[in-house]
Amino acid sequence: MTGRRDELAGRLREVRARMDTAAKAAGRDADDLELVVVTKYFPASDVDHLVDLGVRHIGENKDQEAAAKVAELARRDDVTVHFIGQLQSNKAGHVAGYADVVQSVDRPKIVTALDRGAERHGRRLDVLLQVALDGADGRGGAAPDEVPALADLVAGAPSLRLRGIMAVAPLDGDPRRAFARLREVADGIRAGHPDATWISAGMSGDLEDAVAEGATHLRVGTAILGSRPSLG
Ligand SMILES: *Cc1c(COP(=O)(O)O)cnc(C)c1O
Repeated sequence: MTGRRDELAGRLREVRARMDTAAKAAGRDADDLELVVVTKYFPASDVDHLVDLGVRHIGENKDQEAAAKVAELARRDDVTVHFIGQLQSNKAGHVAGYADVVQSVDRPKIVTALDRGAERHGRRLDVLLQVALDGADGRGGAAPDEVPALADLVAGAPSLRLRGIMAVAPLDGDPRRAFARLREVADGIRAGHPDATWISAGMSGDLEDAVAEGATHLRVGTAILGSRPSLG
């Protein structure tokens, strides 16, 4: 197991160095960047190693897998769990029971279901609105012009707290331009909701572009955990 831990430690150092370099290049403070390590498809034992190595935020994208993994964690109190996958309204109440942050809220039905679920569990969830930057490509997200109404809805939900927005760069096209567009959407939301300051953008391949365009949260999987096992 020390082999795996050393491997994770080395890759984590590399990613943190990339974040430092990108922050410097953008004239930003690297301390203002939160690293969310995306542990989907990898076991709870990897999360435990990561927590030992100082990671405090993990990202998961499937309800069943996430719930089981969170239950297995040795030191749950040290970890903030971000749900980053597409949500169905019939799963949202369950997600509200273990996730601390839900980054992928993209329609009114999900807002209602999460709010009810959070209330039932006696919890308050941090919420990001997922913005689709390239039209409907099946990866979720609200169109930029739908985001303001969704923001108002979350802000009015007693068991949710609107923190900002999230996006995935389009599969083809320039991530820097997409993240610049995201920053404009973020500015628009913040005008009406001053506390919605988080911008979750940037993954293993494009975190530098995201930092350059104001991202506060980076979601990095492969660059730290390695290639995800294929699903059969
Ligand atoms: C899997 C995933 C990531 C991590 O992607 P990598 O390229 O492995 O860093 C980030 N965001 C979302 C929404 C994901 O589903």
